[in-house]
Amino acid sequence: MRFDDGAAQLAPAGADGLVAGLLAEVHRAHTAGEWSRLKACANPDCQWIYYDASRNRSGRWCSMDECGDVMKARAYRRRSRGTPSV
Ligand SMILES: [Zn+2]
Repeated sequence: MRFDDGAAQLAPAGADGLVAGLLAEVHRAHTAGEWSRLKACANPDCQWIYYDASRNRSGRWCSMDECGDVMKARAYRRRSRGTPSV
């Protein structure tokens, strides 16, 4: 905790709190049998760990609006160039 110009700031402790919150969520999901719903985003530029809330656990991206669109556009460009995907 630091005080700059009279304002209190939670500096590095904020990041630790975030990690602790994530670990607590991982533990909760594990004990609740929801472990398989925690996935890494299929976008190699992102790779966020996210909770797959889809009914049949078929989600591949942390966000359908962002990574989903990016990856679909990428796949479309790859197909339209005719290069085989590796
Ligand atoms: Zn993502």
